[in-house]
Amino acid sequence: MDICRLTASELIEKLRHNELSPKDIVESLRKRIRALEPQVRAYVRLDNAPLISKLLETVFTPDPNKPLKGIPVAVKDNICTEGHATECCSKILEGFRPPYDATVIRKLKEAGALILTKKTNMDEFAFGSSTENSCFGASRNPWDLACVPGGSSGGSAAAVAADEAFLALGSDTGGSIRQPASFCGVVGLKPTYGRVSRYGLIAFASSLDQIGPLTKDVKDAAILLNAIAGYDSLDSTSVNIKVPDYTEFLATDIKGIRIGIPKEYFVEGMDQEVKEATDEAIAELRRRGAVCKEVSLPHTQYAIPVYYIIATAEASSNLARFDAVQYGLRAAGEAHVQNMISLYKKTRGAGFGEEAKRRIILGTFGLSHGYYEAYYLRALKVRTLIKRDFDRAFAEFDCIVTPTTPTPSFRIGEKAEDPLSMYLSDIYTISVNLAGIPAISIPCGFTSKKLPVGLQILAKPFDEEMLFKVAYAYEQNTPWHLEKPKL
Ligand code: GLN
Repeated sequence: MDICRLTASELIEKLRHNELSPKDIVESLRKRIRALEPQVRAYVRLDNAPLISKLLETVFTPDPNKPLKGIPVAVKDNICTEGHATECCSKILEGFRPPYDATVIRKLKEAGALILTKKTNMDEFAFGSSTENSCFGASRNPWDLACVPGGSSGGSAAAVAADEAFLALGSDTGGSIRQPASFCGVVGLKPTYGRVSRYGLIAFASSLDQIGPLTKDVKDAAILLNAIAGYDSLDSTSVNIKVPDYTEFLATDIKGIRIGIPKEYFVEGMDQEVKEATDEAIAELRRRGAVCKEVSLPHTQYAIPVYYIIATAEASSNLARFDAVQYGLRAAGEAHVQNMISLYKKTRGAGFGEEAKRRIILGTFGLSHGYYEAYYLRALKVRTLIKRDFDRAFAEFDCIVTPTTPTPSFRIGEKAEDPLSMYLSDIYTISVNLAGIPAISIPCGFTSKKLPVGLQILAKPFDEEMLFKVAYAYEQNTPWHLEKPKL
């Protein structure tokens, strides 16, 4: 049996029947990671230290209160894990070991999960769509090692696709879970704003950020979301709405479900093979009994400028805390700095990468006196219009289906020098964060070069159930999630 190929739900079954022990699982994972990491580079700071910092059972004893007992979970480098490096793949956080666990980590531990001590690669501070902005260099797409895995949670997506992780956590501010999931042929879910606590997530844009699962299939996404969702008094934006058991919605009947297809998402510039795969997926949903009709989301065209004003404004303010005093890097040694300002300048100049600096400058500009009304305040107003587009659509439809990205994965270096074309690749994912709604990306085919294509499903706030229903019905009737990259 090739343990690493299994899904988390299969592992849970095998553990329950004592066909495997947690030790077997971690041992195979360690071997797999060691064999593949020279090519894939999904993880950062890999050394010889153990992958799991606790003693593992050789004989599994089930515990009904610990549904994830013995299951390893990989974690993006911006989610705090007590005592283990969490650096957002930025030089400025070099050596930062959080003294506490993020709420999602605490919950996973309570559910019995084994948290990997090595974190997954990401664009610095989650700024990007390819992992090329990581201070550790880019991860590779397991389907084509010359291509990017997407970003910013590219390491988590690549690890899951390469069977170097069973379950992984990512974060999504403008698409950072769904876009890499789509590029790597795995499942990625961005929960409703407020569904999952962000306590211990190093903030990028606080009005947009959410933590969510990256997994091999839809069932695993439900299992992982079950474990991390819920109210948390430590995150003032978390919402106190009961968390259902998401696995109960994995039914294959979607007869009569009303699906909106937004006409603004099928426009010029979209890759022909992505369009064909999406059209075919919609046809499949129809064959399963769903009622698909065109819908209009007229303010879609403003999503990218609005997002890049709001997200950079919030980022510039969130990143002000990296001041060489409280965390990580302190450049050039204190003896060489004349005063506080020069300490800040030296450290921030040396610690932040190009894209982080670009965003701090853009964001500070958009918030500055005289420009605030023209940029930031305007963007907030248009954000409301985008949200209303969705409110209107969901009055008529149960969910909305779109491609996840306008193109499949691209080659490493292809867009690195052109930030604008990189920003444009977020066109289909960003509105979801601006509106605070949940969305999932699932595999829906391959291009002729065998690069995965993702299908995105959007639902009303706190209706993750609908995502699971439609995604599972589609997945169970298509072969895409069963295919594996040749490595
Ligand atoms: N690609 C988008 C950006 O660069 C989204 C990133 C994210 O969701 N963290 O901002």
